[in-house]
Amino acid sequence: MTKRLPVVIAGAGPTGLMCALALRKQDIPVVLCEAESDLTHDLRAGAFHPPTLEMMAPYGITEQMLVDGIKVRYWQIRNKPGDLIAEFDLGLLADVTPFPHRLHLEQHRLTPIQLDILRNEGGADIRFNCKITGYTQNADGVAVTVERGGAVETIAASWLIGADGGRSAVRKATGIEFEGFTWPETFVVASTTHDFGEQGFAYNCYIADPTEFGALFKLPHDGPPGLWRLAYPANPDESDEALLEAPRVEAALQRLVQKPGPYDVVYKSTYRVHQRVTASFVAGRVLLAGDAAHLNNPLGGFGLNSGIHDAVNLCDKLGRHWRGESGGLLDLYSRQRRAATVEQVQAMSIRNKRMMEERDPEVQRARLKELIAVAADPAKAREHMLSTSMISGLKRANEIQ
Ligand SMILES: Cc1cc2nc3c(=O)[nH]c(=O)nc-3n(C[C@H](O)[C@H](O)[C@H](O)COP(=O)(O)OP(=O)(O)OC[C@H]3O[C@@H](n4cnc5c(N)ncnc54)[C@H](O)[C@@H]3O)c2cc1C
Repeated sequence: MTKRLPVVIAGAGPTGLMCALALRKQDIPVVLCEAESDLTHDLRAGAFHPPTLEMMAPYGITEQMLVDGIKVRYWQIRNKPGDLIAEFDLGLLADVTPFPHRLHLEQHRLTPIQLDILRNEGGADIRFNCKITGYTQNADGVAVTVERGGAVETIAASWLIGADGGRSAVRKATGIEFEGFTWPETFVVASTTHDFGEQGFAYNCYIADPTEFGALFKLPHDGPPGLWRLAYPANPDESDEALLEAPRVEAALQRLVQKPGPYDVVYKSTYRVHQRVTASFVAGRVLLAGDAAHLNNPLGGFGLNSGIHDAVNLCDKLGRHWRGESGGLLDLYSRQRRAATVEQVQAMSIRNKRMMEERDPEVQRARLKELIAVAADPAKAREHMLSTSMISGLKRANEIQ
């Protein structure tokens, strides 16, 4: 029997690693190409929803994440003086998921777990310092061009998965439009040792305010006691250096949650947020997943989660196709995941941001009042939990044929 060409995966982020694991589990040959010399280690995602934990559990990933991750059963909406407006209890979902909580763990703590499991599984050809620059394809395969150690090589592949992040070279080479928009503001992220728990804050809080809103998460960092991370919008016309000056960050944190004495700020950075989805997740033998296919603002914690959902859906269908099953499985991948992204992730993250930043105090008060009513009604609260935990949107999308 002739040996089949491998699936080449661009990017060893959480999505690419998940694709590699899911394909190796089905004994499909994989070449994983990462442009950097090692896994990336920056302040990014850190909140995992129940379906994502369920999807990663069969690979042994979730079990390892639970060792240091922080289980977050409650999340809250607060106003700027810090008063509690509404609290939601994920324990209401105990009958539909074995993980009735969010799990907070830094993205850079997830990827080493995935990589270790992939290496232990064996059989994957993992290449760091290997940047994918383009490809050509025909009906039988893809010729993938990579730069490695200053040299240009071509890898013959059966399929190419672009999991190479928001600036995806693979997506750009497909020519598929990345539809959507970029928000005007820059976001500042700052981590502090201050324990907001002492003030009654849940490990995940959203602070709504007509002039300045914020999102607060507790993350494990190097282990207990962990760090609290605050993200807030800032003026994009100012330089990153200016926005990150210590007195500016201190003043912003004090405005969001006032406390006696200065904040001890351990990390700080800025980032721009986008709402974009590719017109299709499939271009012949080239498949897009994760941030390469969609970007959203971080309110709700959907980006990384949906990258894992893409990887699991895609590799299930690619595996079935590989084993000879017919029926447009890869187009179905695109339809299902695009629907989940547009109807669930884009809609909810945009709605969350608009509610948090609503400029008209009257309108914001009315919207928050609605949320208070939802939180107070167990049936409505459960619906809200099913939706914000990505459970109902995922179910709807997976029913698409
Ligand atoms: C500040 C911030 C906070 C966030 N918070 C959350 C959150 O709370 N919850 C959530 O779910 N999401 C969050 N996100 C989004 C989340 O980080 C991303 O959705 C996630 O990183 C996507 O994973 P990915 O593997 O698709 O892409 P990436 O993590 O970007 O990985 C892509 C990989 O591809 C590599 N690469 C790039 N180009 C090439 C190339 N040409 N060839 C080979 N390799 C290449 C990169 O080096 C990288 O390792 C946040 C993002 C930011 C910026």
